[in-house]
Amino acid sequence: MTIPKTIKCPQCRKETVWEGNPNRPFCSERCRLIDLGAWANEEYRVPGEKPADEEPEES
Ligand SMILES: [Zn+2]
Repeated sequence: MTIPKTIKCPQCRKETVWEGNPNRPFCSERCRLIDLGAWANEEYRVPGEKPADEEPEES
């Protein structure tokens, strides 16, 4: 049994797995985009993809 290697997302500091993570070192595409600064850039917004701001706030 192997323990999946985990990393901490540099953006939200959530623990996330390294293996098979296309967005590493981030936990998600969202964090990756934030890091790129694209999140603040309205022009970057992909048609058909809306910001995930409906998610409940978790801390
Ligand atoms: Zn993250």
